[in-house]
Formats: sequence, C-alpha cells, structure tokens
Amino acid sequence: MTSSFSNLSLAEPLARAVAEMGYETMTPIQEQAIPVVLQGRDVMGAAQTGTGKTAAFALPLLQRMMKHENASTSPARHPVRALVLLPTRELAVQVAEQVKLYAKHTNLTSAVVFGGMDMKPQTLELKKGVEVLVATPGRLLDHIEAKNTVLNQVEYVVLDEADRMLDIGFLPDLQRILSYLPKQRITLLFSATFSPEIKRLAASFLQDPVTIEVARSNATASTVEQHFYSVGADDKRRALHQILKARGLKQAFVFVNSKLGCAKLARSLEREGLKTTALHGDKSQDERLKALESFKSGEVDLLVCTDVAARGLDIKDVPAVFNFDVPFNAEDYVHRIGRTGRAGASGLAVSFVASSDQRLVLDIEKLIKTKIELEPLEFEEDTPRISEQGRINDGRRMYRQNDSDDGQGQGRAPEARPPREPAERRERREYTPHRQPAAVRDPFFDRPYEPGAPAPSLPSWEASSKADAPRNGTSANIKPRKKVAALFKSA
Ligand code: AMP
Repeated sequence: MTSSFSNLSLAEPLARAVAEMGYETMTPIQEQAIPVVLQGRDVMGAAQTGTGKTAAFALPLLQRMMKHENASTSPARHPVRALVLLPTRELAVQVAEQVKLYAKHTNLTSAVVFGGMDMKPQTLELKKGVEVLVATPGRLLDHIEAKNTVLNQVEYVVLDEADRMLDIGFLPDLQRILSYLPKQRITLLFSATFSPEIKRLAASFLQDPVTIEVARSNATASTVEQHFYSVGADDKRRALHQILKARGLKQAFVFVNSKLGCAKLARSLEREGLKTTALHGDKSQDERLKALESFKSGEVDLLVCTDVAARGLDIKDVPAVFNFDVPFNAEDYVHRIGRTGRAGASGLAVSFVASSDQRLVLDIEKLIKTKIELEPLEFEEDTPRISEQGRINDGRRMYRQNDSDDGQGQGRAPEARPPREPAERRERREYTPHRQPAAVRDPFFDRPYEPGAPAPSLPSWEASSKADAPRNGTSANIKPRKKVAALFKSA
C-alpha cells in the first residue's frame, strides 16, 4: 500500500515544497516513520540512503517545528532545535540540501558544518541562528568548543547512518555531543543494520523507540539487465574495455573490493586512455568531492569506487555498473546495481566472476532469488589486449595515444564474437545519455565544472584522435607513474 503526502496534513509551506519536488506517494520508510515522528516517538529505523529516508525524518521534524517559525532576524529567535549527525561531509551536504528544499517556503533556517574546511564561514552562519543543524561529529565538537553554537534548546536529534558513524570511530564524539543536549528530546536513529553495537547505542540514547524496518529490497530492479561473465583476473580490464565500447556506454561506476585495488585500477584505466577517477576512503575530503564533481559534470567517464566510499551518495541513473570484483557481501551487490536502471530507465549491471568467486555468486543468487547464469566472455578481435604492464597492445592503438614506451605487441586477440543477446536486450543498447535525477539535485555538485578545456562529448573509449587524449595518456586526476621502463630501454 502506498499513501499520498496529502494524507499527512502537512503545513501548507511544507506540502507545497513536497509537491514542487514532484513527490506524489510516500516511500515505505516515509509511510512508516512520518506518522511516528509526528507523534513524538523515538525511532530506530533500518533504512539506507536512497529510500527517501531524509524526507522521512526531515518533514515531520519541520512540521513539529512550525510552531516556532518566526521571521525575526534575531539569532536568539532561531536556536538550534534539530541536530542531524552524519558520518561524512558528502552525506552532510546531501542531507542539508534536501532539508533546505523541504523548508524553503518556511522561515525555518538550516546550516551544515563539516570538517576539512575553514571554520569561519560556518561560524558566521551558525551565529545568525539556525533551527536545523546538519553536521559531522568532529566539526560540530569544534564549533561547540569554540562556543559558536549552543545546543541547549535542541529538541530533536537524528543519528543518520549510525552504523557507519560507529565504523569510523565516532562513538566517543557522539557520546560527548549527546551529553550537551537536553535529556528531554526526540531521538531518531537510522542505520543500515541493527548490529549489537547499534542496539547498544540505541539502548543508551533512545527512549522506548519504535522500530521501523523497511523490508530491504533485495529484489533487483527488473529494468536492470544483469550479466555475470566468467573472466580471469588478468582479462578483467580488457573485458571492461570491450563492454564499454560494444554497448556505447557514456558513463559507468566500477566497483572494487579494496581501497588499494581501487587506486590501482583507476590508474591503469586512466593510462589505458579511459577518463577515470577513483573514490575511496583514503582520499581526502577535497579529493572525494572533486572526484564526484568530475563524474557528475561528465568530465570523467568512469568512477572506480569502493562500497564504503560510494555508499549513500545520491548519484543514480548511471547507465551501467561494473562489479570489477564480485562484492564480498551479497547485499552490496544489490546496492551497487541499484545505481543503475532507476525510474524505469534501462540499466546494465555486469559482474566479472573469477574462478575463486563462485561462492560469492551463490550468495548473491540466494539473496536475489534468481538463478545466475555464468556467461563466457569472448573477446572481439578489435578489443585491445592489455599487457601485464597495463598497456594496451592493440594494432590500431584505439585507446592508448601515447605509445612511446609501448610493449612489443602481443599480437591480436584471437578471432571471437561476443555472446548474442536476446532481441529485446539488443534494442535497449542505445542507452539514453546519462540522466541526472530530476527531482532533487545537489547544487553543490551541480556547479559548472571548469576544466582547462571543454569536456569532450564522447566518452573516452569512443574517442580515437590524439586531440582528445589526456597529456601522456593521463589526466590530472591520476598521478603518473615514473616511467621505469624508459630507464631500462637505454641500457
Ligand atoms: P534519500 O534516501 O533521502 O537520500 O532520498 C533519495 C532520493 O529520493 C532523493 O533524491 C529524494 O529527493 C528522493 N525522494 C525522497 N522521497 C521521495 C518520494 N516520496 N517520491 C519521490 N522521490 C523521493
């Protein structure tokens, strides 16, 4: 059963904002959480980003705060009443933008504070007074200590992505922050899982919470065409090149299982002429934002990422998702491929299965309750071979433009044809260009990208002229490796 927002009797300014965002029916988490929060109960919710969770807590909290709404410019009239804590800067920015949109026709103000940047602009905003403060824990503590904000009138606290906050080690910070807040308050905790640690956290900070578990959709969207190819570890990059090209894909996410593998793969793909950026936990906040920005602006075509780094990011409608590594956790498979095939658009999810991955594939099969057929991947004649050094040995040099120290060439790949697809799948091949989400956009990431040169309209695997090639085959995103081979050549 789905119900409409009109059943909620939201205050007119909130209802108007919701209507403007194009929301019609509530998502399951909204349907369950909004009435409970409106009643003033604590909530322990199992829901992830992408389920409509932000509106599930923000709308009822804003509704409850409407009684405090006032147009005064005095900071004292706008104390922090709702505090939303999130583990990362990206998530904080995303949630804050959504809150702003929901509150845009009200006089309720909001701000976001996160680490990794100058405190001054944040301080100025805080000093003006904000009703909703979205924050990462460390930076919030800095502001509390600097007396930039006072939290003694907080009525609502949201611990969002709580499991991840614990993973990152924020528990002591959370405990300190919560100790500054009035005991009498409503606390909402959202987490992807209810691990024993999360249950302990809830037991110490929540009062008689209503547990809401949105049946995690382990079903994969029927609009996503899924393939599992049997590919040896050494052939995965070559397989990626072939599929990108054969499908005429404009952009894709490439998931790997480790931070190290992520950086390495991004570097290799970049050297092979694909415009690639990497997103993993070892990158600085700034680098991560830049990576996202360049993907969203279309300046890079491939985003190589780990599950943790990509989790919760509101990037969807990606034409294709590649599981370069089969995920260790079957649920991650569902999350990964949920990035594509949204809103009725057709999507493609391709997994490269090495012989040691069989058990992981069985786990996925069990979870999605669908028999998985492992397909052989035959290489096309013109798909370049990639040498162990990560260079493309292709007679036509289709991708690698800077071939000054290219290998001796391993000859062409054996004559081969890709497996045939059913007719209706072939029809879907003409993938519509990368579509941005229609309703909510994250203005931060929507800022026009200002590269040195205009971004080419063709994805890098389609570009064949030298003109499009990054200098030395490497973009500014990836630090070039020293050309050790060149040293040996002269010997
Ligand atoms: P969230 O899980 O809160 O990050 O939301 C994920 C995306 O779903 C955001 O882009 C929201 O704008 C969008 N969204 C949230 N609720 C609804 C709804 N009821 N109908 C349509 N889109 C929604």
